[in-house]
Amino acid sequence: MNNFQILIEIHMLEIPESTNISSQVRSTLLTRKITEVFNATSPHKFAWYNGDPSGYPVILKGRKIHSAKGHGMFVDIDCDEDVVITIGDGTNVRYYAPLEHRPEKHQLLIEFDDGSCMVFTVAMYGGIWVYRGPFDNLYHRRSLQSISPLDNRFTEQYFDKMIKNVTKDLSFKALLATEQRIPGVGNGVIQDILFHAGLHPKRKKSTLTDFDRNELFHSLKVTLHTMTEQGGRDTEKDLFGRNGGYKTILSKNTVDQPCPNCGDIIVKEPYLGGSIYVCPTCQKR
Ligand SMILES: [Zn+2]
Repeated sequence: MNNFQILIEIHMLEIPESTNISSQVRSTLLTRKITEVFNATSPHKFAWYNGDPSGYPVILKGRKIHSAKGHGMFVDIDCDEDVVITIGDGTNVRYYAPLEHRPEKHQLLIEFDDGSCMVFTVAMYGGIWVYRGPFDNLYHRRSLQSISPLDNRFTEQYFDKMIKNVTKDLSFKALLATEQRIPGVGNGVIQDILFHAGLHPKRKKSTLTDFDRNELFHSLKVTLHTMTEQGGRDTEKDLFGRNGGYKTILSKNTVDQPCPNCGDIIVKEPYLGGSIYVCPTCQKR
């Protein structure tokens, strides 16, 4: 997977986006019945399916959308009869209203009884898994079992315990965005989380004061809440192909621009298989 980490920035489903897309699925597609399923028109080496996708039409046709939930970097679309469609990081799902022009290339297209459809595309790599009953995928299971920072059970004590369990040489980026310690918190959302906490992504855990730790905990909760409430980040697309409403402070959109806090220029550098964005003044090493 390491070779692909750098590409994660293309379509990143992180907590704000998985939460928002699932809520858009609920408000748009609830009780819609699946009438047609079209397999990939454009086969993709790194589009992952559950078994042979040519079996998907048999499982999906006639099913009704029941609910949807976002967790970590996954969106689960629940149908009746225990059938679930799960997408993960790297997969883009887009809704097209009846008569709206659909793209020719896709890795799965699901049509509904009103003529609308959901189109799944994979840019670099990503999963579109259809299954009945439990899903045998380690990351998915861990994500379902974990406590999201949006949840009240993600307390300061819980966070402190997580921090205590990692080595002192670990950087903040590694702490927050690797090993799936917090599923759905990845290299995208951590940029603004660390900015608001005034911490440099490369700084080591051993330098963390009580004050910093408190700032980091609050920034993690507040930044993720804000991103989610505003419909995801402006670097990502929602179910309707629109950019999210949350204006990123540190992202590919703002590199080389002045920091809103101090006016210093925002810089980008490669670190741990992905880019980090930093204000050199607000986030000292
Ligand atoms: Zn600054």
